[in-house]
Amino acid sequence: MKVAVLPGDGIGPEITAVAVEVLKTVAPDLELGFAPVGGAAYEAYGHPLPAATLALAQSSDAVLFGAVGDWKYDALERALRPEQAILGLRRALGLFANLRPAILYPELAEASSLKTEIVAGLDLLIIRELTGDIYFGTPRGRRASPDGAFAGASEAFDTMRYTEPEIERIAHIAFRAAKARSQRVTSVDKANVLETSQLWRDVVNRVHQQYPDIKLDHMYVDNAAMQLVRAPKSFDVIVTGNLFGDILSDEAAMLTGSIGMLPSASLNERGQGLYEPSHGSAPDIAGQGIANPLATILSAALLLRYSLKRETQAARIEHAVQRVLADGRRTADIVGTKGVSVGTEAMGEAVLQALSQR
Ligand code: NAD
Repeated sequence: MKVAVLPGDGIGPEITAVAVEVLKTVAPDLELGFAPVGGAAYEAYGHPLPAATLALAQSSDAVLFGAVGDWKYDALERALRPEQAILGLRRALGLFANLRPAILYPELAEASSLKTEIVAGLDLLIIRELTGDIYFGTPRGRRASPDGAFAGASEAFDTMRYTEPEIERIAHIAFRAAKARSQRVTSVDKANVLETSQLWRDVVNRVHQQYPDIKLDHMYVDNAAMQLVRAPKSFDVIVTGNLFGDILSDEAAMLTGSIGMLPSASLNERGQGLYEPSHGSAPDIAGQGIANPLATILSAALLLRYSLKRETQAARIEHAVQRVLADGRRTADIVGTKGVSVGTEAMGEAVLQALSQR
């Protein structure tokens, strides 16, 4: 099986190098191919997603992605900016399902801004539809307002759209994910107001009939946003559209206190996926050897679980990370009041060491 490794910019190369060592240790048979992406690719080839990088990603079973972007590219025309590489990969690989686990290890409970008893042990999975909704719906644009109280004034408009097959395929992903967890799915929409949400709810209910063992409930997005801070542990799998998922997944990420801990997976219909930390390229700390590599290491675990179907290897990595945290090792972003502060490489070595102690 083949994995494309795209380190990218900023802290991307540092954290990816560590995750690759972990991957090589747990799954030595994997074929790894490396290619530049983002600003690094622009510097080398004049484009953030060169044809050779895209071809490597397309011919691989999965992509391990670091992060892209740097403020020095802000003046470039949009098509050449590093972040366009992610959009290009999503489009070319047809990645429509974004999976973002929000896990708060008991050892890090005090990193959260919520009370320990509310968040300690949190383990939820947000599944966000990635290719539809108001971000891509047409028509969109600016014009003189054709009607209403301000007819003639300049206005802007976007269109929220979803087709049944788009909702069906993301619902299947959610129910299947719930099967391997605690058998519960919460579908989040705004069906009291939006046509798209009414369709969403109908289709999710219909797909649910194929998964009689899974408990499904529906929640309006405003309530879900409240419940996420009031009682986050009441959720297990949340499935929602692109816009609501964008907001709720960031809210859930902050429950855990450190963005340096959160992996993510984006999947297509063939199970091919792109795996990356939820954070960006952190140019402010790049090259200092202090970035937290755990989100990328945990992304490698998701890669083994979802694209390569190697649950045992995925769980081995997750247990090793847990053990390192229990031993008190912390990178600067999660050090808090307890623990020993270590750099990126030392954190990677600690995980490798934990892997060697079965
Ligand atoms: P960011 O996530 O890079 O950084 C936000 C803050 O979190 C910074 O203070 C950073 O030092 C810290 N941080 C992030 N990851 C960390 C880690 N692993 N360990 C320790 N601290 C960490 O977000 P930003 O500053 O808004 O964006 C920086 C660049 O990243 C921009 O160019 C942006 O476009 C890009 N970006 C890329 C992606 C991606 O590649 N998927 C996602 C978001 C932002």
